Amino acid sequence: MNEKIETERGEEFRDSLATVTKEGKRKWIYPKKPRGKFYNARSIVAFFLLLFLFGAPFIKIGGHPFIILNVIERKFIIFGIPFGPQDIYLFALAMIAVIVGIFLFTVVYGRLFCGWICPQTVFMEMVFRRIEYWIEGDASRQKALNNAGLSSQKFFKKFLKQSIFFSLSFLIANTFLSYIIGVDKLYKYILETPAQHPATFFAVLIFSALFYFVFSYFREQACTIVCPYGRLQGVLLDPDSIVIHYDYKRGEPRGKIRKDSSASDGDCIDCRLCVDVCPTGIDIRNGTQLECVNCTACIDACDEVMEKIGRPKKLIKYASKNEIEIGKKSKFSPKATGYTLVLVALSAIILFLLLNRSEVKLNVLRSPGMMYQEQPDGRVSNLYDLKIINKSFNTLNVSLSVDNIKSAEIRLIGNDLKIEPQGVTESKFFIILPKDEAKFLKIPVKISVKADGKILDAVQTSFLGKVN
Ligand code: SF4
Ligand code: SF4
Repeated sequence: MNEKIETERGEEFRDSLATVTKEGKRKWIYPKKPRGKFYNARSIVAFFLLLFLFGAPFIKIGGHPFIILNVIERKFIIFGIPFGPQDIYLFALAMIAVIVGIFLFTVVYGRLFCGWICPQTVFMEMVFRRIEYWIEGDASRQKALNNAGLSSQKFFKKFLKQSIFFSLSFLIANTFLSYIIGVDKLYKYILETPAQHPATFFAVLIFSALFYFVFSYFREQACTIVCPYGRLQGVLLDPDSIVIHYDYKRGEPRGKIRKDSSASDGDCIDCRLCVDVCPTGIDIRNGTQLECVNCTACIDACDEVMEKIGRPKKLIKYASKNEIEIGKKSKFSPKATGYTLVLVALSAIILFLLLNRSEVKLNVLRSPGMMYQEQPDGRVSNLYDLKIINKSFNTLNVSLSVDNIKSAEIRLIGNDLKIEPQGVTESKFFIILPKDEAKFLKIPVKISVKADGKILDAVQTSFLGKVN
């Protein structure tokens, strides 16, 4: 909050919430329909985001889904690459990198994510709110309709709007489900009756109801009350963070435009259009507030006003506190530099692990409680437990070998090692060494798993020898 406004106008705005009446009841926000270059740009970004969200489940690479996030069966495909529970370390690192990335992004660019990318804002402002404007008209008409008594026209408009809202919520819930089970399975479920998969059906209904509740009723409160990211703004933002700011040095003292306006009057003509368009109902002229989702609607509204009255645009703009107060352009703060270094290091580790990630994971353990065995021909053997995970989309026929002892023999117990795509096989095997090689207590052995002569993974273990 800038000190100048605090001093001149007091801090009464801090005593109340834009969305709560004096009696403590919900105050419904009727934001005026935004228009302008930022709104147009956000519409284009939203279009591509929605295209990706609804289109990605249909994309297949080599017959396999582009994205699957099956948390129930712990199967994941991200950008065509299969991942499984054994890749949990990659997920953990990626999650840390995402969190650090969000912190860094917020320190530098404020709530750019909220205004342009967040699914809540995209769906609310670019989908549901547009439908509302289309059916009920702009803010003043919506208000009049809500205050009017019940009529056939009101019933029709409300019924149409709520039906579309629920249908869209149902579509969104099904789309999220397709990210979990895949479009093919979803399509199969749609053709069958709900009684054949009641749990999935009820889950979809519950999520549809939740989305419907959020977009038709709860709305901006998801950002101002529930969203944890919104709560973090106070600790993440610093005076160099670029957020949506009202240039109070230019705007104050505000006042209605008059013919005798003197040069000492500020550029703000107190038309309150920036407040009227705000989807969270706040007045950005009071300074940076937790409720501001950086949606840019107030920039567009004010730019239009400035254009009409022949004053320079950008009275409300993307700027840092330091830029507004002391004219200092934003630079990387020490906090942002620290986050950047951590993020670069994490990204490098993830990239290295991804590039060196094998298609197969081999686990070998000497069978617990077992000592060496003497074979009838005098050789010495050890028994091992084997587990091989196939992370790829291909069926693998693999073989085992001991790489560091040429005379070692591997004898499998059971059939050949054939592993289904993204499957696991478990077995047991012996390593048999000639008596001369097995005369030490603990002999290191390197075991590798191969397919078509190519080593897919290797592990180091030990062999218990026979000491005379
Ligand atoms: S839209 Fe611009 S001129 Fe109008 S009240 Fe807001 S800041 Fe002032
Ligand atoms: S203050 Fe401006 S940017 Fe912030 S939520 Fe309101 S309209 Fe959007």
